[in-house]
Amino acid sequence: MKISRLSNAFRTFFAPSEYRCVCCGKDVFNKLGFCPDCIKRVRFNNGKRCLRCGVAIDGEANYCGNCAFDKTYFDRAFSPFCYDGAVRDAILDMKFNNLGANAVIFARYLAYTAEREKLNYDVVTFAPMSNRSLKKRGYNQARLLAEAFCDILNNTELLRETVIKIRETEPQEKLSRTERKTNLVGSYRICPDADVKGKRILLIDDVKTTGATINECAKVLKRAGAVEVVALTVASRTEDFVYENSEE
Ligand SMILES: [Zn+2]
Ligand SMILES: [Zn+2]
Repeated sequence: MKISRLSNAFRTFFAPSEYRCVCCGKDVFNKLGFCPDCIKRVRFNNGKRCLRCGVAIDGEANYCGNCAFDKTYFDRAFSPFCYDGAVRDAILDMKFNNLGANAVIFARYLAYTAEREKLNYDVVTFAPMSNRSLKKRGYNQARLLAEAFCDILNNTELLRETVIKIRETEPQEKLSRTERKTNLVGSYRICPDADVKGKRILLIDDVKTTGATINECAKVLKRAGAVEVVALTVASRTEDFVYENSEE
């Protein structure tokens, strides 16, 4: 098990993040990760949520518009925050502005959510990036989140090589609804030696906007024999999106 080999280096390298607001960078003297001004712009996903995909919903129904009619490959999904305000800014920084250190703060919220929801899983893994994107960015923020998550919750096995992204895709946000449905299809593969058969997988990612990434990863994991895939993302955005389930 390679769980803790990287974690010390990781912790040392990113230690100062504990005392910095993930949004504006101001010093903070607590473990919240947000300064008093930015926390006002944080939308916690702590109200009514879709019983399947975990997005904030209101009204009578137990499921969001997508999940009411469409089957997903992931079994359930959870996010501590809505993709909005200060959290959206901090996630974009984590992704594009070299602030991988934000992952340490966010992983704490993921760990809290996993405990609160009493999530049961055998192994943890994360949404992969294509080699080209990884080279460009230098790190995969989903991997940083998963490593910090496993660091916080001891005895949690992290599988670093499960799903791979075999081709570059357009960012989902830039596409029309129809394009989104097909954009990611077929862009993920299972690693030849991924040990997921019969396992319950916790899949970590930074944000669930359309849900297509976690759904595609879950599809690949299920086909490789995973018995359950539960997704845990820092934030999620409610969106008019229909999961792509057509068999190719
Ligand atoms: Zn701040
Ligand atoms: Zn839903």
